[in-house]
Amino acid sequence: MSRIVFLMYHELELAGRKLCQSEPGYVRYILPLETFRSQMAWLKKSGWRGLNVGEALRFPAGPGVCITFDDGCETDLAAAAPVLREFGFNATFYLTAGFLGTPGYLNASQVRDLDAQGFQIGCHSMTHPYLSDLTELELKREVADAKLQIEQIVGHAIEHFSCPGGRYNQRTLQMARQAGFETVANSQFYANSFRTSRFELGRVAMLRDLTIEEFADTCRGRGLWMKRLQHQARRSAQRVFGNRAYDRLRAVLLGEHQG
Ligand SMILES: [Zn+2]
Repeated sequence: MSRIVFLMYHELELAGRKLCQSEPGYVRYILPLETFRSQMAWLKKSGWRGLNVGEALRFPAGPGVCITFDDGCETDLAAAAPVLREFGFNATFYLTAGFLGTPGYLNASQVRDLDAQGFQIGCHSMTHPYLSDLTELELKREVADAKLQIEQIVGHAIEHFSCPGGRYNQRTLQMARQAGFETVANSQFYANSFRTSRFELGRVAMLRDLTIEEFADTCRGRGLWMKRLQHQARRSAQRVFGNRAYDRLRAVLLGEHQG
């Protein structure tokens, strides 16, 4: 396998459990557990492997995808992990260090449990800001201090980082290198190959309304150019309006669409 798609998941929705956040812009990234399970079942049935970031970057033979989760919600352990184990898949869970132990998120002992089950633990900043907007001191706290905090919980090195909201710039990557991370994942729509920088790994956001056919196409790397165009249009709007104004605008638009 010379190219591999990295999938980006978030919290999963369980019947009767309140989500960590309720804005439409958040919920569109939240898959019901059954949807996630049917995607994993499709992979298994089709002879695909589900790999963590470290495994994926060795580009093993045969079809496979890299499975990642952002934010460190408690459903990583309660919902995603049992399904992944059922199908014999691994995954990387990127945790927001400062959220650990707060309602809806994993606590330290649950992080150790996930780690002990053989899943890969990564870092997703301290407090989930847009990293491209920060001063040097803030950036150090979000990248280097967050790494140390998670390392103290699991008792070993944390090598993989993912950028909150997909935002980063060269300073972000420089700080990640200095802090000792080996990879940085963003949320740009491209598959990764031997030639992709380890510090700019693309990932494809999994949206709750994705059909199983669209999921299959995504795993095969089909149609990513189209998503990339849409993404570039959004980024241009963000540059014109600024991140904060863009977020408000997006919340209004999504809110109206979903009533
Ligand atoms: Zn996030």
